[in-house]
Amino acid sequence: MTAFFRKPVAGIYCLLALLSALLFNSCGKQENPQAVEIHGKTMGTTFQVKYLPLPSDDDQRPEAIGGEINAALIAFNQLVSTYIKDSRISSFNQFADTTWFPVDSTFLHILEGAREINRLSGGAMDITVGPLVNLWGFGPGSPEQRHIPEAAAIAAAKANTGMEKLEIRHDPPAVRKQIPGLYIDLSSIAKGYGVDLVGRLLEKKGYANYLVEIGGEVRTRGVNERGVVWRLGISSPEISGGLQAVIALDNFSMATSGDYMNYFEENGVRYSHLIDPVAAKPISHNLASVTVLHPSCMMADGFATAINVLGPEQGMALAERENLPIMMIIREGEGFVEKMNDAFRLIREKTEESGN
Ligand code: ADP
Ligand code: MG
Repeated sequence: MTAFFRKPVAGIYCLLALLSALLFNSCGKQENPQAVEIHGKTMGTTFQVKYLPLPSDDDQRPEAIGGEINAALIAFNQLVSTYIKDSRISSFNQFADTTWFPVDSTFLHILEGAREINRLSGGAMDITVGPLVNLWGFGPGSPEQRHIPEAAAIAAAKANTGMEKLEIRHDPPAVRKQIPGLYIDLSSIAKGYGVDLVGRLLEKKGYANYLVEIGGEVRTRGVNERGVVWRLGISSPEISGGLQAVIALDNFSMATSGDYMNYFEENGVRYSHLIDPVAAKPISHNLASVTVLHPSCMMADGFATAINVLGPEQGMALAERENLPIMMIIREGEGFVEKMNDAFRLIREKTEESGN
């Protein structure tokens, strides 16, 4: 399988803070058929799909669906993975030219989403930050041993960033670099798009009850095999296996961006894989993770990164401006505190009221 994201550095929180999509048992009697479960690997992480079969499905159907999902994800990686040397995005990144470069409509759709989040976040989420991601050791082919780069190298990499240096054309679909050194990194948004992609694939086939999860980014629709809306758990960073929150989601998505999975430490300072595009260095605030809800998993994923880069105050302000239900887990002293906005609290309370 292809590697899209690298999350090799296990920190002290690694056992604690992985977001997991959990299917909860209800007390009601089973009204629906057993859910079909498909598991696999993609984008350097794992995926899981659960769906309720249709009465017309035969025994071979789950295998066929699994095959189609795998094929769709492989094709998607071949489009947007910077970890694949001959992917479409890698070809564009290697294309040291400033003429138009043809892409397909999926590629453009993702760039449009990224551009929108870039604008709404005042530049905090920026897919052109790739040269800095790579320089700080968080890109493809980065060394296991990461170090703080030289100031001159940081300045040189920063000169090759900037969303305004990427042009998008729709007819015919193409992209253009204003400077040859521009490099696109879609890692902050692609997993979410992959989830949407698999959800649409299932819907086209008539499956209206499903859960799709790739590396912690999730989309649900309809009900689970117990006939209740799917429940998603957000893991607690403090209690191993414990849950910080449980929410019921129908036809909605949830994405989390955290700094506990991928970082290095030097002289007692923690350097995250999230780069502040203005400072040209890893973020350094006390926000451990942010979970965002949005109809589109791609947008949830991108906004989670944006809010994480912005930090607790500015990130919360963005969520309020855009009506995004969010929950943050913030480091405080030796522990953590949670902070959520009213929109998220409402969904959480509704879940609790509905029981199960
Ligand atoms: P994860 O991949 O851990 O779920 P994110 O969705 O937040 O987390 O994506 C993080 C990845 O996005 C980084 O590994 C890096 O490749 C890229 N990245 C880092 N900083 C930024 C940024 N400011 N804007 C957009 N992408 C970024
Ligand atoms: Mg993201």
